[in-house]
Amino acid sequence: MSFTLAAAPCRQNPARLLLGPGPSPVHPRVLAALAEPVLGHLDPCFLAIMAETRDLLRQVFGTENELTIPVSGTGSAGLEASLVNLLEPGDRAVVGVAGVFGERLAEVAARYGAEVHTVEAEWGRPLDPDAVRRAARAANPKLIAVVHAETSTGVRQDLAPIAAIARECGALTVVDAVTSLGGLEVAVDELGLDFVYSGTQKCLSCPPGLAPVTVSARAREAIAARRRPVASWYLDLGLVQRYWSQERFYHHTAPVNMIYALHEALGLIMAEGLAAVWRRHAANAAGALAGLAALGLEPLVAPAERLPSLVVVKVPAGVDEAAVRAALRERYNIEIGGGLGPLKGRVWRIGLMGHGSRWQHVTFLLAALGEILAAHGCGPGPGEAVAAAVAARPAG
Ligand code: PLP
Repeated sequence: MSFTLAAAPCRQNPARLLLGPGPSPVHPRVLAALAEPVLGHLDPCFLAIMAETRDLLRQVFGTENELTIPVSGTGSAGLEASLVNLLEPGDRAVVGVAGVFGERLAEVAARYGAEVHTVEAEWGRPLDPDAVRRAARAANPKLIAVVHAETSTGVRQDLAPIAAIARECGALTVVDAVTSLGGLEVAVDELGLDFVYSGTQKCLSCPPGLAPVTVSARAREAIAARRRPVASWYLDLGLVQRYWSQERFYHHTAPVNMIYALHEALGLIMAEGLAAVWRRHAANAAGALAGLAALGLEPLVAPAERLPSLVVVKVPAGVDEAAVRAALRERYNIEIGGGLGPLKGRVWRIGLMGHGSRWQHVTFLLAALGEILAAHGCGPGPGEAVAAAVAARPAG
C-alpha cells in the first residue's frame, strides 16, 4: 500500500468541541508541550520535570503521599494498578456498583481472584452508605472500592462515609477519581483515602494516556506484606516507584511527552488555583443545567448528588437522541455523549471538564441544542435556553 503524507485525510480532524464524557478539550499550552523535543527518560532535565509533576499531582490530589505518580496508560491502567497491587487471590473486596465503572471495578477484582461482594445502587443514584457498611461488616474485606464520579450516570459519590466505614472495618479504600480529579475536590489525606486513581483526559485538560495515582502509607504496607508478587510486572508499583524515586532504576521507558503535557496541565490548574477551578466547574454546570431546563430537559440526578464535571439530562419522549447528537456533530462540530447500559437511548451526557468547562462552550451548546430540538418540534428554541443559563449562572 502506498501512503503519502499529504493524503492522510483521516488525521485532518475537524477540531471537534468535545463536550461528551471524555476525552475533553486539551488546553493549547498542553498541546504545545506535547510537541516539545523528546528527552531521554533519565536525562537530568526530564528528571526535574518528573519531580515537579509529582509535586503538582500531590497538590491536586490533596495529599503528601510519597507514592504519587502518573502510571503509563489510560485511566483503566490506574484501575488495574489499584486492584492488582492490593489484591491477592482469595482476598475479599466490597465494590460499589451504580454504573459502568463500578461494574468494571468488580469485574477486574474478580479477574485477579478476589472474592467480590458488590453493593448496588440504581443507575443515577449514589451508593447507600448503610448498605456499604452492612456489606463490609459481613465480608470483612481487605478493601472497599467505589467510583467518586460515575461517568455513566453523572453521580457524585460522597466519599467521607465510605472512608469512615473502611476505617471502622480495617479495610483499605480504592477510589476511582477519573472524572473528578481537577474538576472537584478529591481530598485524599483529609478523608484518609488509600488508593486513588484518575485519568488525564477528563478534568486535567490533557489527552488520554496517563493514569495519575496516589497510594497511602497504609496501602503501601499492605502491598509490601503480599504473600506473592504482583501479577502484573508492568503495573507493579513497587517496581515503577524505583524509577520515580531517587534510585532512578529503569523499569519501562516513560511516555516523556505525555509527562510534559501533564506537567503543563497541572501547572495551569495550580496557576488558576484549585478552589477557583472547582468553582468554575460548579458555575458552568449550574448555568448549563438552567439552560437545559429551559429547553425542557430534566436532570437525571438529584441536586446534591450531581457532578460539576458531567451534566446528565433525560431525552424528551419522542426525540431521536442519536439524531440530535449527529446534528450537533455535523452542524455545529460539537460532541456530546449518549447513555450506556440501562440508560442507553434515555439520556445525554454533557461533559464540562477541565479546559472544556468554559462559559462560551455552555452558551454555544445551549444555542445549538435549542435550535436542533426546536427543529424536532421540541422546546422553546435557543434564545430562552441561553437567557436562562445567563440568569442562573453563579458568579465565579
Ligand atoms: N473510570 C471512569 C469513571 C471513567 O470515566 C473511565 C473512562 O471514561 C475509566 C475509569 C477508564 O478510563 P480509560 O478509558 O481512560 O481507560
